[in-house]
Amino acid sequence: MSKMKERDTKLNRRKMLGSAAVAAASALTVVAPLRASADAGPFQNQQSGDHNAPNETDPGPRNLPLAQENPDSVWSPKTDNGSVKPFKYSFALSHKRIEAAGWTRQVTVRDLAISKDIAGVEMRLTAGGVRELHWHVEAEWAIMLYGNARITAVDHHARSFVDDVTQGDLWLFPPGVPHSIQGLGPDGCRFLLVFDDGNFDEFHTFLITDWLTHTPKEVLAKNFNVPASTFDKVPKKELFIFQTGLPGDLKAEQAQAAEATGTVPKSYSFRPSTMKPTKVTPGGEVKIIDSKLFPVTPISAAIVTLKPGGLRELHWHPNADEWQYYIQGKGRMTLFIAGSDARTMDFQEGDVGYVPISNPHYIENTGDTDLVFLEMFKTPEYQDISLAEWMAHTPHLLMNQHLQVGMQMLDAIPKEEMVITPV
Ligand code: MN
Ligand code: MN
Repeated sequence: MSKMKERDTKLNRRKMLGSAAVAAASALTVVAPLRASADAGPFQNQQSGDHNAPNETDPGPRNLPLAQENPDSVWSPKTDNGSVKPFKYSFALSHKRIEAAGWTRQVTVRDLAISKDIAGVEMRLTAGGVRELHWHVEAEWAIMLYGNARITAVDHHARSFVDDVTQGDLWLFPPGVPHSIQGLGPDGCRFLLVFDDGNFDEFHTFLITDWLTHTPKEVLAKNFNVPASTFDKVPKKELFIFQTGLPGDLKAEQAQAAEATGTVPKSYSFRPSTMKPTKVTPGGEVKIIDSKLFPVTPISAAIVTLKPGGLRELHWHPNADEWQYYIQGKGRMTLFIAGSDARTMDFQEGDVGYVPISNPHYIENTGDTDLVFLEMFKTPEYQDISLAEWMAHTPHLLMNQHLQVGMQMLDAIPKEEMVITPV
């Protein structure tokens, strides 16, 4: 008799004899899987405080460092349910393209499948390091995370823009507007770029060297009415990120670039450090920067700071998907996608989160330092609706008939949106 057949026979015999036979045959290796079946009594889905119940053990293999960073995936809240698509990806998992004067990496829809509307790029430039003159179809929103940079652009009326930006400053290059970024002293810069298309690819932008290399010198000569040899030294391969010396004096470069045509009428840079927070509560603060404050931007942003224990309140955005970038601290987000399905994922520095349009969510600071993150939207106007606003401004009788929380509780909800719940 083959081993398989022998086992089948034993199982059949056990089924016929019932649980008494199971106890008698406890030395057999096939007993354990049967414990959870009907003949061992009702199945118990235990969840213990220390996760040591029999059904919670894990003999491995395990990736412990990753598990420790993602406790809400290993042991999710009991309210989580169903198959919510992943809404997290980390820049730490992205391929880093390293060049002589810095590096870059990106998180796009190719990495995070649900992030259809927005893509992000991290970049580091040395002092003097240049992200080559280029343009792209998408708008480029940016925040300086470290250091100093010189940025340049030219609009469709040949009006120029040249500015220096520092940590915390933003810029916006409209679609199709050619631009450059250069690291300044003392140690260059690091920044995050946000594009209004999840399919954006930083490695496929229109580069000035790449274009000229693929244009006959005779055509360039005719275009500028100069000898073809003028273009002998144009690099044969794209520069992309390259090392050079520091730029000239800002005022002098601004004046030279603006000759005859002037400067762009609305600045491509914005300094959040000069604005008051949009909301402040004991739990933290938020700065909302959309086209009302920064007129050139088709991308709106909220810069959120949550104190330890702080909660970005239950809400959703009726006009756009939300793309998040975690700058500092530790947190977790719970997303409810209807049909009883909800999921919680953990976030930390360098992580990207994503929330589809009108899907409700909230974010908690789970660390012991401030949690700072960006909420980015492919829309010039920031919009949200909070659960608290909805409950406060719906007839309380009707709301209480749904939730049974008591009229007193409903009357006490602040009439104005908190954004961040007081700790
Ligand atoms: Mn760009
Ligand atoms: Mn949100």
